[in-house]
Amino acid sequence: MKAGYYIGDFKYEVREIAHKEPQEDEVKIRVAWCGLCGTDIHKFQGKNGASIVIPPIILGHECSGTVVSVGPGCKNFKPGDRVACDPSYSCGKCTWCQRGLPNFCMERHGVAKGFAEYVCPPEKNVYHISDSLGLKNAAFTEPLSCAIHGLDLIQIESGKTVVLYGMGSVGSLMLQLIHYSGAGKIIVIEREREKRRLALELGATKAVTDDQIEEISKKVNIDYVIECIGSKETMEQAIHIAGKNAKVLLFGLGDPKDPISFNQFEAYTKELSIFTSYLNPHTSQRAINLLERGLIDTEKIISAELSLEEVGDELKTLELSKKGKVMVYLSKEN
Ligand SMILES: [Zn+2]
Ligand SMILES: [Zn+2]
Repeated sequence: MKAGYYIGDFKYEVREIAHKEPQEDEVKIRVAWCGLCGTDIHKFQGKNGASIVIPPIILGHECSGTVVSVGPGCKNFKPGDRVACDPSYSCGKCTWCQRGLPNFCMERHGVAKGFAEYVCPPEKNVYHISDSLGLKNAAFTEPLSCAIHGLDLIQIESGKTVVLYGMGSVGSLMLQLIHYSGAGKIIVIEREREKRRLALELGATKAVTDDQIEEISKKVNIDYVIECIGSKETMEQAIHIAGKNAKVLLFGLGDPKDPISFNQFEAYTKELSIFTSYLNPHTSQRAINLLERGLIDTEKIISAELSLEEVGDELKTLELSKKGKVMVYLSKEN
């Protein structure tokens, strides 16, 4: 079968590898779709994703597909089932798993590397999806589950003012969740005009550029700031424009070699709470529930559908990723 590898040194390669048969409680899934995630791009650029990267590695982790066979110990799946994956393995036994925080599992690793024709995750990482949900949409389960976890951490109170940075694919999902949270005002910060227009369509009450937000922040107390870009400049500005008693969620993935700085005294006088969010503990089913109800518009976010081979060029140029979510098709079933 084919698999798309990051082989180090800014190089991507599609390799032919041996099929794996499902062991124990594993589920063998024919991958239909897999989203290209910001963390894949980070890995390709030699930075880290959610963990340290040692190439060669198969990229992708946001996949959906159809079950083709199951291991002898698998209880809940059978060939033909349509499924989405949570790519993050947790052992269920270590101290972090026992504390209910599987995102810090000591044995955590990826089990659904979706830039491949087949994946074999254990069944606890696999979720049934209803017939009403297309496999392409179902591939948004993982990024949406990460966004849900981030918003769980800051607990938005209805009627308050939220600023969201970035209408990339995660920002666009986040915006829809913020909209449903009952926020009073939602101000989206985005440099591209097209994406500002999309923000208004997806629930923002105002869409402006980063040059304009400082003025706004002098007139309105910004209660929540959610940064979904991960650039130093916007992360620092996010902390600066946050209002009194505000919560700031730095959701975008920063460069590990380039830390941000902020004025502690200013943050102190505002009594800021600064949050980060790591992975998607216990939120996959909730993401699927929202997708199944059709509450999350994914079609408007998708900028391109590419083959496993075509994504190699995209990793170098990022042309299409700048415009929205790039979806990689494998079997292309829906
Ligand atoms: Zn992802
Ligand atoms: Zn564990």
